[in-house]
Amino acid sequence: MFRHEGWVCTWCNRPVMFAPVMKFLEREVRKSGRGERLSYYHAHWARAGAPLLDELGAVIDHVEAHSARGPSTEGNLATACAKCNGRKSAAPMAKWHERPQRKPIKGKYGEPQHWDGLSCVFVILAQRDPGGLTSSEKEWLKVLSGDQVIAEPSSHSLSYAVRYRRKRETIEL
Ligand SMILES: [Zn+2]
Repeated sequence: MFRHEGWVCTWCNRPVMFAPVMKFLEREVRKSGRGERLSYYHAHWARAGAPLLDELGAVIDHVEAHSARGPSTEGNLATACAKCNGRKSAAPMAKWHERPQRKPIKGKYGEPQHWDGLSCVFVILAQRDPGGLTSSEKEWLKVLSGDQVIAEPSSHSLSYAVRYRRKRETIEL
């Protein structure tokens, strides 16, 4: 899902990041013997404990909210940053557009070409220290390490549909 959309928020166009990588980065620093407290990772992505995740943690968002019977099929799912996801919550699309939005980013010199949400760092650190992985992290590792053999990003038609929709919305806003 994230890979399809180039790890960019569908709504505000900000780069998003794969949250567990921050946990592993924090662990790496700890392992090196440094004792200072770090606000890299917090289980609830709270600003106080993890400001980067509070802003840019990657979330899979339901375009039509799950609670409004929006399906969990790929066509109804979109990559979102934590802030847009929090703002949108369960609002139906029509209502959500009336809410104050995070101003979408526009790249003056083009869009990110190879941003991966730091997922590659996650794969490297998780493979190095697989003992501490939660079951969902193991699943992610399986999926994300599969990326290594894919030389080109998937050209699944959905990615084009979503990008197209995102562009259109950016213009409308
Ligand atoms: Zn966003």
